[in-house]
Amino acid sequence: GRKFFVGGNWKCNGTTAEVKKIVITLNEAEVPSEDVVEVVVSPPFVFLTLVKSLLRSDFHVAAQNCWVRKGGAFTGEVSAEMLVNLAIPWVIIGHSERRLILNESNEFVGDKVAYALSQGLKVVACVGETLEQRESGSTVAVVSAQTKAIADKVLSWENIVLAYEPVWAIGTGKVASPAQAQEVHFELRKWLHDNVGAEVAASTRIIYGGSVNGANCTELATQPDVDGFLVGGASLKPEFIDVIKSAT
Ligand code: 13P
Repeated sequence: GRKFFVGGNWKCNGTTAEVKKIVITLNEAEVPSEDVVEVVVSPPFVFLTLVKSLLRSDFHVAAQNCWVRKGGAFTGEVSAEMLVNLAIPWVIIGHSERRLILNESNEFVGDKVAYALSQGLKVVACVGETLEQRESGSTVAVVSAQTKAIADKVLSWENIVLAYEPVWAIGTGKVASPAQAQEVHFELRKWLHDNVGAEVAASTRIIYGGSVNGANCTELATQPDVDGFLVGGASLKPEFIDVIKSAT
């Protein structure tokens, strides 16, 4: 079985006081055990060690990005080695905000995922189509190409969680319907089956992101190929706990 995965992507939000408040809320929450759900929150770099030091031990932390290769003269970047040095277990790579606003290409994202894995990090790798791409009928082609660029570079999928995040659903309140999410998750799993292998397809968690909240998570979670969520806005609020509970 694929263990349910709930990630909270805090994006570029929070003050020290706000971050501490979120952690207190999470620490006091009654949620299913670590055997049932893997919970990972992703604060901005500057709060990573603070959150890691305060957070309950059954929840884990992720960085939101890292540099594509070994560190060095790359002003403003944070390397995978640094995250490992700080015992940060996870990193989110290829979020659409980085692909679209910071022009990260499929190939660059594939290189990043491979390098992060090589250093011992676990990766939440994001894919997803824009509204224009969906309306032109190229959703499956787009997410397959994004997945292929990762598959071309990595040696193993063991430490990858694949996040399907349609761009039109991110921060818009327009959540994908359970059927829309299931359709793309099914296609991604089929792509993994046909191009990587049956074992990888069966074991890789494919999680959904885009306007997930406490009210819509339960029905999405019933879909056979939806193995969890990557939550943005709602992960800053107490309702994130309801999303974690949708694991059962
Ligand atoms: P929202 O949940 O705010 O739509 O963001 C989703 C997301 O981008 C998570 O990575």
